[in-house]
Amino acid sequence: MTLTVRWVVLLFAMVIVPSVSAQSVVGIGDPLLPSAGNPGYDVLHYTIDLNILSVETGEMTAVTEIELMPTTVLRRFNLDFSSLDISALSVNGAPADFAFARGELTITPASPLAVGETVAVRIEYQGTPRQSVNPIIGVGGYTVYDDGIYVAGQPNSAASFIPVNDHPRDKATYDITLTVPEPYLAVSNGVLESETDNGDTTTYAYVMNDPMASYLITLAVGEFDVYPQTGPGDLPMRTYIPPDADASVAGAFKRQGEMIEYFETLFGPYPFESSGGIVVDNPRMGFALETQAMPIYSLGIVESAGELVVAHELAHQWYGNSVSVESWDDIWLNEGFASYAEALWVEYVDGGAAFRGYLRDFYMTARRSRVLPGAPSLRTLFDGAIYHRGALTLHALRLRVGDEVFFDILRTYSDEFRYGNAATDDFIGVAETVSGEDLTALFDAWLFGELPSPASLGL
Ligand SMILES: [Zn+2]
Repeated sequence: MTLTVRWVVLLFAMVIVPSVSAQSVVGIGDPLLPSAGNPGYDVLHYTIDLNILSVETGEMTAVTEIELMPTTVLRRFNLDFSSLDISALSVNGAPADFAFARGELTITPASPLAVGETVAVRIEYQGTPRQSVNPIIGVGGYTVYDDGIYVAGQPNSAASFIPVNDHPRDKATYDITLTVPEPYLAVSNGVLESETDNGDTTTYAYVMNDPMASYLITLAVGEFDVYPQTGPGDLPMRTYIPPDADASVAGAFKRQGEMIEYFETLFGPYPFESSGGIVVDNPRMGFALETQAMPIYSLGIVESAGELVVAHELAHQWYGNSVSVESWDDIWLNEGFASYAEALWVEYVDGGAAFRGYLRDFYMTARRSRVLPGAPSLRTLFDGAIYHRGALTLHALRLRVGDEVFFDILRTYSDEFRYGNAATDDFIGVAETVSGEDLTALFDAWLFGELPSPASLGL
């Protein structure tokens, strides 16, 4: 995620108090978000079918099918879901009891579910989703704005419109089908499998064949100019831009293919089957988010940050999306890496002096903050230090072990944890194994200690 400066100021002025009642609900075990996700099962696949009845209000009818596997005998289980109106709910084809409380949908199947069996949950529902209350960005999730609808939010977003195990630890594959009225088009994550003209409506079917964390789901409905491109290895890329946007906005995405090609030399193979971007003209949206294989950007952030924000969100496809956080307090593994990738792009395009200048700016942010990248709170999850001191941690590692070993570490890490989850200790483990060095002091200082001097980085 990238926040605009104005937005950051607003956010940090807000007093953020997570709901105490929500925390009393048992979640998947995240130290910062105790109610997020649910234990007891592993979701394998979501089939989401949304029929958007009105783009103006966001009203929909929906069917979400969830294929899951219990990891313990389940007499009942929870999904995260805001209170849309459920008209039918079945487990393995048989009607099941359910109840809502505080964003949790508790399902009691007719008989207990055995460990290891594949279970099909089917939920039909309708209504007008509301934005989820997001402890970090205020609101997030399913959002209706003047020009259409989009979904974006971190750390929670998906439960605003689908029943879901809403934590990065439970990744799954997805089929997302969107039916929207003419003249709007609809976009979501992954490969566009089909586009069907039904007369008054159009149905778009997207497939995400690689595991995806639920906060990385996006969709957008509206009128866009579509810019198709081809990336390395014939990678299909589509970028969706508001029709009245300045030409410089499309220009920011021109070098996406080259970015992916360059990052592949540093990080290893691009992990997904497609790429692209969605630009949303909603002045109330002050961020970009690395939604899987189809990042979503506010128009304002593309206008102000240009291709650097594109480099940031693309780098997240390796670090954040393919390799996801084990817990939200590992967030520097996402943001430090994506921020360092911005600097690497600057180094590639403009050379070493520009690169060092970019890192000096990072050091200024780090010096202004007391937040430790290795120990954020819920409130400081997107503090500048997570991004920029996190990036400087990687630069310190690069200076210590040299370029060859450093990029070997980055590639080994993205390969070893591809499509999975990693914690800070996992990355440190890879760095020590690949380099053959004890790096405890370096990571302790940069992630958990007093900010080291700029001279230690030659800045
Ligand atoms: Zn980011």
